[in-house]
Amino acid sequence: MSATAYDPNNIFAKILRGDLPAHKVYETDKVLAFMDIMPRADGHVLVIPKTAARNLLDINPDDLADLAKASQFVAKGVKRAMAADGLTIQQFNESAGGQVVFHIHVHILPRWTGVALRPHSGAMENQDVLAKHAATIRSALEAMQAGG
Ligand code: 5GP
Repeated sequence: MSATAYDPNNIFAKILRGDLPAHKVYETDKVLAFMDIMPRADGHVLVIPKTAARNLLDINPDDLADLAKASQFVAKGVKRAMAADGLTIQQFNESAGGQVVFHIHVHILPRWTGVALRPHSGAMENQDVLAKHAATIRSALEAMQAGG
């Protein structure tokens, strides 16, 4: 396998297959959104395509468009659910670009005025906290889908 080939055993591929658990907040036939296990802000969500793509450099443009549309929708729900003042959106490509998990993902980070992002410390969040934030975000997204 070349250094830039898609690895079907990456962590997010395992989450997509149901081999690993995740606190899911949104799912379609094209994308899945779930809580980041080491959040840099409360309500930190990751949006991934279901298609096998390593990052921005190899994803099919149509799949990228689906990912962008879903990211916008989920971002609005995260902002509403977490009562955020704004959002930071991040997407990293290859190790030199800060990528750690090699299935393309969009970070959605709710932001509040005067509150800094936490360092990428590698500290796992409490599962109950992740479940609570996931439930709040799911409710907001369901309300938006219902036209609210
Ligand atoms: P990146 O590749 O964009 O640098 O970072 C990968 C992100 O995935 C990190 O924010 C990290 O906290 C998150 N992450 C790593 N392993 C898992 C996991 O097993 N489950 C979930 N939900 N998130 C993970």
